[in-house]
Amino acid sequence: MDLHLKGRLVLSRETDIPGLEGFLSESNSTVLAKGAPEGMGAEVISHRLEGNELHLEIRSHESVRAHDAMLRLKNAFAAKFGKEFKVGVRDIVIDTYDITFDIEKEPVHDVNLPFVERLSFEGTKATIHLVDVEEEFLQGNYIDRMISRVQEKIEGQYYEGKGEFWKEMWTSPEKPVKWSDDPTDAMLDAGWLKQGPTKGKWFLRPQAAAVLRAMERIAVQEMLLPLGYQEVIESHFVSFDIWLKTGHLEGSPNEFYYAFEPETRDPAAWERFKDIVKITKKVPEDELLKLVKPSNAGLCYAQCPVTYWSFQNKTIADGSLPLLLFERAANSSRYESGGRHGMERVDEFHRIEVIFIGYQDQIMKVREDLLEKYKYVFNDVLDLEWRMAWVTPFYMQQAGQVGIDDEDKMIKGTIDFEAFLPYRGDRDTSEWLEFQNLSVLGDKFTSAFNIKGQKGEVWSGCTGIGLERWTTAFLSQHTIDPENWPEGFRKYLPELPEGYDLL
Ligand code: ATP
Ligand code: ZN
Ligand code: MG
Repeated sequence: MDLHLKGRLVLSRETDIPGLEGFLSESNSTVLAKGAPEGMGAEVISHRLEGNELHLEIRSHESVRAHDAMLRLKNAFAAKFGKEFKVGVRDIVIDTYDITFDIEKEPVHDVNLPFVERLSFEGTKATIHLVDVEEEFLQGNYIDRMISRVQEKIEGQYYEGKGEFWKEMWTSPEKPVKWSDDPTDAMLDAGWLKQGPTKGKWFLRPQAAAVLRAMERIAVQEMLLPLGYQEVIESHFVSFDIWLKTGHLEGSPNEFYYAFEPETRDPAAWERFKDIVKITKKVPEDELLKLVKPSNAGLCYAQCPVTYWSFQNKTIADGSLPLLLFERAANSSRYESGGRHGMERVDEFHRIEVIFIGYQDQIMKVREDLLEKYKYVFNDVLDLEWRMAWVTPFYMQQAGQVGIDDEDKMIKGTIDFEAFLPYRGDRDTSEWLEFQNLSVLGDKFTSAFNIKGQKGEVWSGCTGIGLERWTTAFLSQHTIDPENWPEGFRKYLPELPEGYDLL
């Protein structure tokens, strides 16, 4: 890393400083070299005293950052000249700061980054050009994070348009195709569903609700309770500090639904708003924005972050490991926008999230047990045509975290469960529906929340059982006529509710 800074020490008064020259050149081999390998310290390469400002140009490497060199000079200056000339350093100003670092690959196209004046590339070197740099910026470790972000964005450019990684692991036998209707349309026609009230939401009338709840009972009674999972109930609201820790805030901010608290509960403050509503029978949007605080939380996107948060800074007793939990109270909300379709891609869905924490060998066993139960449920209870695929993304493979060619090495990563939807076309060419997944995440979240076992590091994993997706997969294959439903499922829903007739 090469750093090049131009800045100023703003002095408390205008004065001549005899010995300045000597002080600066001595600093190069003393204060500015401290802690750095031979020849790798910071160096003042030019200076100029103008009025009460000492202009400095500094070059350095990573061991003494040029902005740290400015701080060191400020202190050394005060120690050396403060008493003698009654002059101190009032302020440090950084006018320009260029940071050059190595990159593994050349960018495919432009890279944008906030805070920078300009980003330039030359072969496998990148330079961040900063101007008028604030103090806070330098203290907050921003520069290192900006460098990582540039590297990450370049890496990402190589995977654009490559699609998702996908490797088949197991496929069920083919099943007879009973129909090729879209079950959402069929349910709408049969009066089981109503769309709305806002985008991507549904009102489930008794028949659809009964099917969804039957799916839930199957998951809980056939799998989770027999395997020893305990239920927890969490808040629907996820504070931003939780998502900052899990990485969701940088990963999915475009899919969140955001929550806003009122600025005040004082009725007087809301009087004008109420008046306008009463008179216009419309929502005065500008008025509303003035009455709510900036958002500090979002609606649940997946249940695992809040569950991990509940163990923050805790050591889990060995007797409680592996810890096996599930949550089904918080609905997941996601802004799917153009991707919405039917019941299978909605903005608010019902999902049981299964979360497990334990030592690495325990986690492997937990996954085996879950896979075995899933196979039983999808084969023998729901009688589905389905498959499993290893879908761990390229970047994780890149980072050498997982192997893909050797089954034994599928340690950390994600398995998608996909069902054939006859309404989408041929089984060989159509896109199958991901109806759930199962991830082993290593120490990603346990480290983020500092969760430990008595013997040290623990791993975690989770599997999201999407009830709308189970329902869609099931009805796409077995129709919405209970006569066609497999015995295993009918045990859980012997009779559909009558529903009601609307005129
Ligand atoms: P997709 O690639 O389909 O968007 P995802 O990777 O976003 O899925 P995850 O975040 O891994 O999904 O969520 C796990 C499970 O939650 C999915 O397997 C699915 O069962 C369910 N799910 C996710 N998004 C939706 C949605 N919009 N509507 C209904 N269920 C969903
Ligand atoms: Zn999860
Ligand atoms: Mg998604």
